[in-house]
Formats: sequence, C-alpha cells, structure tokens
Amino acid sequence: MSKDQNQEACSHYGLSQNKVGAVSLCPSCGVLRLSIAHVSIRLEPEDFDQLTQLMVSAQAHLEYLADAHEASLAGSNVEAPRNMH
Ligand SMILES: [Zn+2]
Repeated sequence: MSKDQNQEACSHYGLSQNKVGAVSLCPSCGVLRLSIAHVSIRLEPEDFDQLTQLMVSAQAHLEYLADAHEASLAGSNVEAPRNMH
C-alpha cells in the first residue's frame, strides 16, 4: 500500500476550525490534518503536539516582545518631556 492510497483512505473528523484554518483527525490511522487556506499538512500525533508547542511558544514570545516594546515606548514618553527642559 502506497502512502497516496493511504491518504485517499483517510477520513476527516473535524476537531477545530476558525477563520485561519481547520484541524481534522483521521479516526482510523490517527493522523491529523492541518488545513490553512489551500495548504493541507498531514502530521503524526507527536508532530502535531510539537507543532502546537511551537505555536504556543512563538505566541508567548511575540506577546513578550509586544509588552517590552510597549514598556520601552512608555519609557520614552516619560523621558521625552524631561529632555525638552
Ligand atoms: Zn487515515
């Protein structure tokens, strides 16, 4: 059995979706399918778990950078009037 035949045989049980994409599970083989726009990626459960951690970690880092940026902007707003005197 080739991988292509296997892919054809997969069914897709929808797990989650939003405006960006969707995630579905093949109940028979356990493979997860991540669909974003016209791109569809098949992932083993362990890899899907890794991808989830990757995205959560990136989001956390992004929020940290946004907070740091806001803090530095707030800092410069405080400093700017002082420099004018
Ligand atoms: Zn399958």
